[in-house]
Amino acid sequence: MRESIIVKAPAKINLTLDVTGKRNDGYHEVEMIMTTIDLSDRIGLISLEEDKINIDVNQGFIPSNENNLAYQAAKVIKDYTGSKKGVSVFIDKQIPVSAGLAGGSTDAAAVLRGLNELWNLGLTLEELAELGLKIGSDVPFCVHGGTAVARGRGEKLEFLPAPPPCWVVLVKPPMSVSTKDIYSRIDLNNMKHPDTPGMINAINQGAFPDVCQKLENVMEEVTFNMHPQVAKIKQRMLQFGADGSVMSGSGPTVFGLTQSEARAERLYHGLKGFMEEVYVVRILGTKHG
Ligand code: ATP
Repeated sequence: MRESIIVKAPAKINLTLDVTGKRNDGYHEVEMIMTTIDLSDRIGLISLEEDKINIDVNQGFIPSNENNLAYQAAKVIKDYTGSKKGVSVFIDKQIPVSAGLAGGSTDAAAVLRGLNELWNLGLTLEELAELGLKIGSDVPFCVHGGTAVARGRGEKLEFLPAPPPCWVVLVKPPMSVSTKDIYSRIDLNNMKHPDTPGMINAINQGAFPDVCQKLENVMEEVTFNMHPQVAKIKQRMLQFGADGSVMSGSGPTVFGLTQSEARAERLYHGLKGFMEEVYVVRILGTKHG
């Protein structure tokens, strides 16, 4: 039997993000289109005989106790299956933290997928996604990966084909935003909603210009008001030649799309001139195994 495994945990971006209401349980009702990108944490899992969960992260400011979502994932799957095995989880963090890229959620999802394989648990991705929802609203999507419309709290998934291949240029400004804070400032009665059916159509047709045109996120206005610097990044992204640009999740990461490698390079160098954290990656967009 295998004793260790390495799992890739890709970040997600939001092509659209809409908030359609507030529920009685305190959560917001969302409708958002997410896709995975080739910017990934690497999660190493080593099975232990002793019944314990160790977390080791290569970044000091991320918790290595039960507050780490990877820890919670190991705990949830152990409780569900009654396994008395232990695990050491090593997180090689490459995804910016508190950035709107679901870094913690994708680590949790990778632990669920990885332990399922390492311990031969035989759970389906659907079961893992259900377990993931106990940890966070984005975890079910991260369990499956790919491209999907997420509704409800984010757990009702309708899968779509991968978007047209393109470069994704991301800028993470040096600040973090609290998702909770952004949600609390959204004015549900006075907002312009994204054209979600239009984006679904654009993805189904593989129409890159339409995908770029339909990028929209209702949280932008709130985050831009609080941090005008983030709005400026989007402005520059478009000035430097991105075919479309939008903020991901509650931010503050802003990304731009282009199909031209030369333009992606130009964007990288232009943005690097005034921002420390700039990444150029590809869309992945297809589901895990
Ligand atoms: P989302 O896009 O789902 O809103 P995010 O990308 O904005 O998430 P994360 O990177 O997931 O935010 O981090 C949010 C918080 O979660 C941070 O305060 C961080 O300390 C905590 N956290 C817990 N576990 C992890 C993990 N494995 N990786 C990163 N952050 C984690």
